[in-house]
Amino acid sequence: MISAKQCPDNADTAPAGRAGEIRPKRQIARTCPECGEDFAVPSSGPGGHKQFCCEAHRQDFRKRCAARGKVLVPYVMAWRTGRPGGGQKSSPIVKQAFAEMNRILDQFAEEDRKAGRPKLVDYVGGLMATGFTYMDRRRR
Ligand SMILES: [Zn+2]
Repeated sequence: MISAKQCPDNADTAPAGRAGEIRPKRQIARTCPECGEDFAVPSSGPGGHKQFCCEAHRQDFRKRCAARGKVLVPYVMAWRTGRPGGGQKSSPIVKQAFAEMNRILDQFAEEDRKAGRPKLVDYVGGLMATGFTYMDRRRR
């Protein structure tokens, strides 16, 4: 008899206390940020980190984020770094950058809504819940 540990097809099972006995791993529900479908991942071990229902959706999501980021970054940086601070008023360019940034974001949100993609609040919540954010990775 092959044990769950030896068979990669049994990623959703874990060895039990007695030899040859297999019990299901605990599963947690996730929602794919690309298609909005619910899927289950093991609560620990291999596959527990998955955020997408399949590799194709992970790649589609990443490509769209990269493309959108290229459009947004100049406006976001102009807004974020161009503000004078100290109670002074922002320049018209900074205000225009902020307004354009919001128009672009609204356009992206509308594209997502029409495509049936879920809002990214849950996805970002999952990233934050890992306790290992982009800024954490930069500090290493
Ligand atoms: Zn999906």
